[in-house]
Order: sequence, then C-alpha cells, then structure tokens
Amino acid sequence: MLAKAVATMLEERQAHFLIPASIVANVQEDNHLDHAFMVLTKVRYAKIPVLDNEQRFKGLISLAMITDKMMGLNGIDPGHLGSMVVKDVMETDVPTITLPYDMEKILHLLVDQPFLVVVDQHQTFTGIVTRREVMKCVNYIAHDLERQYMVTPLPAQQDDKK
Ligand code: AMP
Repeated sequence: MLAKAVATMLEERQAHFLIPASIVANVQEDNHLDHAFMVLTKVRYAKIPVLDNEQRFKGLISLAMITDKMMGLNGIDPGHLGSMVVKDVMETDVPTITLPYDMEKILHLLVDQPFLVVVDQHQTFTGIVTRREVMKCVNYIAHDLERQYMVTPLPAQQDDKK
C-alpha cells in the first residue's frame, strides 16, 4: 500500500499524467508494415499503440518488430513489408490501465514499461501515461513532501541508524 501522504500528492497531480489519444501517434492494425515503418521513423518514438478502425486498443508496435521482419538470409530486405500488416507482428500481451487510476499499479507497471496505455471499459483508446510524466510528479513529491506533511522517523528507525 502507498504511504497516505504520497498517494494523496500523486492523486492531486494525476490530471497531468494523461497524454490524450488525439496527440498520440498510432497505426491501425490493418496498415501495411511499410506504412508503420514510415510512421515510426517519422515520429521517432520507439513504440506506439495499434488501434482498430473503431479506435479500440489492439497492441503495440516498434521499429525493432518491423526490422526483424526485414532480415533475410542476404541482409536487410524491405520488400516483404508491403505484404504484411501490423497485426501480424504487433505485441498483444500488453497491460492496460483504466480511469480512475490505481496509482500503486501504475508505479509498479512503469518499472518495466516506458508508457502505459489507458482504455475505457469498451477497450477504446483514451491515451497514454508515460514514465516521464509520472517521474515529474515523483520529483515534485520528493521536494515538497516535508513542506506539506510532518515526517518524523519512528523510534525503531532511529535505533537502526545509530
Ligand atoms: P517519454 O516518457 O515522453 O519519453 O515517452 C515514453 C514513450 O512513450 C515513447 O518512447 C513512446 O513510445 C511513447 N510516447 C510518448 N509520447 C507519445 C506520443 N505523443 N505518441 C506516441 N507515443 C508516445
């Protein structure tokens, strides 16, 4: 369980966490890989969400997943990319989160993921929460905690430090 003061301070700033779907680069699951390759190269993000044509979240795709499909016996061959679609190579075993945020779960998942996908109850893509935005808030808490709360060590903690 999160310390109450930390949980409260995280909750107060959680409106800043979401990067809304309207400004998140994405591709459709039926897009050809050459299109996804161009999008990923252009936006310069390592990995982006994959949606269906009703804006539901389906998976994630990275440049590495696509370049892996270009590797042939004689080196790199981008020729196959026009005959494969995003859903053939995307990662589908991806954790998602929903609103209202479960901050304990988010902190836990962000240890291994640079961003988390936010969906509604119908799997419609709402946006992403990035490690960067949450780290900004953790930084704020680390600096401001003692301005807002009295934090004193318990006797057992003091004994350990002697
Ligand atoms: P950041 O913490 O801002 O570096 O973002 C971490 C990761 O989140 C990036 O490498 C991308 O995979 C993803 N990401 C962040 N912002 C966007 C965006 N606007 N569109 C698509 N993906 C994004």
